[in-house]
Amino acid sequence: MPNTAIALVTGANQGIGFHIAQQLAAKGLTVFVGSRNLANGEAAAKDIGANAHAIQLDVTDQASIDAAAARIGKEFGHLDILINNAGISKIGNPQGPIEEIVKGARITTAPLDHIRTIYDTNVFGVIAVTQAMLPLLREAKAARIVNVSSGVGSLTRTLGEGGEHLRQIFGMYSASKNALNAITVGMALDLQKEGITVHAVCPGYTKTALNNFQGTKAVEEGAREPARVALANPPLPTASYTSTEGTFPW
Ligand code: NAP
Repeated sequence: MPNTAIALVTGANQGIGFHIAQQLAAKGLTVFVGSRNLANGEAAAKDIGANAHAIQLDVTDQASIDAAAARIGKEFGHLDILINNAGISKIGNPQGPIEEIVKGARITTAPLDHIRTIYDTNVFGVIAVTQAMLPLLREAKAARIVNVSSGVGSLTRTLGEGGEHLRQIFGMYSASKNALNAITVGMALDLQKEGITVHAVCPGYTKTALNNFQGTKAVEEGAREPARVALANPPLPTASYTSTEGTFPW
């Protein structure tokens, strides 16, 4: 991807998204720092530097998504890289280790509205943002879409040998990431003919608000694989699903 490329990272005001935006901006790309709270996005963009521009973007709010697409269209006329990073893992502010938190998030017992809220951001939000940005992605030479998924979304790993911990923590978040994997494949199939590649990426277990800062990787490290896939030249084959450990099975 050339360093003149235009990128949008959703949920880039903190956590892994912030560091993806920072790593792309450091390569010279122009990066839109998506943030549902504009002031947080502006603070993040200021920290990153001149290549970063804050943009208000709530992935569950169609008017916000449409306004963001209109602005990028007006300012640049195209978008080279879309990184669907915004995500949530829990409802409210449950404390304690992930193994405890997931007890209130199992598929057979979690309140349906909690599961819907998780899917609204992690799945429907990605579809809505991607559909709105597609006309701009089509205006780019060889655009790519990176969906920040998770290894916990792999059913093969969950049900396979060594998957005890994944089975223990399988709840609405894991299920939403599996749905995200499915829509990644759907997008890749639909866009293949147009030369737009679509990728799922697992950042690894990273210390962020998403897991009450219990992750083991630093945020800079967690951003590495999404940024690598976004910048890869030539692009990875479409419908890739990778982490720094290599390719994951769906
Ligand atoms: P984080 O620090 O909590 O960041 C999540 C980001 O998403 C925040 O900027 C948050 O905005 C934003 N967001 C949430 N709902 C949104 C909405 N409706 N519209 C726009 N932005 C929204 O967590 P993170 O760990 O960096 O998560 C980034 C991605 O990595 C997620 O997709 C997550 O599932 C994935 N992931 C993380 C890990 C890990 O171990 N941390 C592992 C695998 C995958 P606010 O600041 O306004 O809340």
